[in-house]
Amino acid sequence: HFKAFVLDKRNDQLIREVKELTFDDLPEGEVTVKVAYSSVNYKDGFVIMKGAMATQFPLIPGIDLAGTVIESRDGRFKEGDPVIVTSYELGTGHHGGYSEVARVPAKWVVPLPKGLTLRESMILGTAGFTAALSIQRLEENGLNPEKGPVLVAGATGGVGSIAVDSLAKKGYEVVASTGKSDQEHYLKNLGAKNIIHREDLLDKEGQIFREERWAGAIDPVGGQTLQYILSTLKYGGSVATSGMAGGGEVATTVFPFISRAINWLGIDSVHCPMDIRQKVWQRLAGDLKPEHLNEEIVNEIPLDNISNVSNRILQGQVKGRTLVKL
Ligand code: NAP
Repeated sequence: HFKAFVLDKRNDQLIREVKELTFDDLPEGEVTVKVAYSSVNYKDGFVIMKGAMATQFPLIPGIDLAGTVIESRDGRFKEGDPVIVTSYELGTGHHGGYSEVARVPAKWVVPLPKGLTLRESMILGTAGFTAALSIQRLEENGLNPEKGPVLVAGATGGVGSIAVDSLAKKGYEVVASTGKSDQEHYLKNLGAKNIIHREDLLDKEGQIFREERWAGAIDPVGGQTLQYILSTLKYGGSVATSGMAGGGEVATTVFPFISRAINWLGIDSVHCPMDIRQKVWQRLAGDLKPEHLNEEIVNEIPLDNISNVSNRILQGQVKGRTLVKL
């Protein structure tokens, strides 16, 4: 027997409860993991509160997990190996991380890189992975600390907090945008040089060009924030788009692209190929490892508190990363 947080749908109503399950309840997969930690991402909030993106019921949500292999039918993994599993259908169409035991396809499993503990890997989780993939793509497109300031939108969120910390560690001048005006100290402590209120970073007028300000930008927010970023990137600069916490619709024109040579980079963690995935995790354990993977950015909760945090994350009220201890 083991415990899991289960999402079910009965008479069009979503039911959320912590239940006792058995190994017979686990899905197909070559690798069985004793889960140590999971985390709560924005996407988990969507799945749990709205049933969105969930393709099966009952479902154990949780798009992230880290733990120790207890059984493997794949030569790449053996009992006792510490591993990370994120992305693919985990926590949407296949039982996920909010469970003391998980069974997954071997092709989803990443060996825990040297330099990270299981706990640290889940403080990072999908949000941290997405921040690092964004930084890597910006650098592949020419960003380096000499090019100028880098803007991080949604800076107190999961993707934002890790991005601020990793960029500052690499020597970038980080400008953090946030809607939480009382969190200036938090963001400066993570390494932000300047803080901007998110209201001052909205393109309400559909203005195509503004003064050139950022060599690069990390954007999990989208909407009018992204429009503003496209109008303020420096010549040759890039924005890495990963999310839509502020809206999915973006109005723009070709002009900043053809006269300022800017790049709009799409970031996807879910189907990111395994060779790139492993390299990004290696970087998160090395040169991009944040300096504050500790209580400053972490709120640790048990399975019972997942519904509450899921509700708050959709309202933009969660700061940093929420770790789920199994
Ligand atoms: P999160 O922790 O909730 O962070 C989102 C942050 O965005 C909030 O903390 C808030 O920061 C800001 N925000 C919230 N509502 C807003 C609004 N209405 N207008 C402007 N800003 C708002 O979530 P997360 O887990 O970091 O994920 C962030 C986004 O990235 C989500 O849309 C998620 O789906 C997406 N994502 C995508 C991928 C991918 O593979 N592409 C992977 C991970 C995440 P401030 O209060 O500081 O402004």
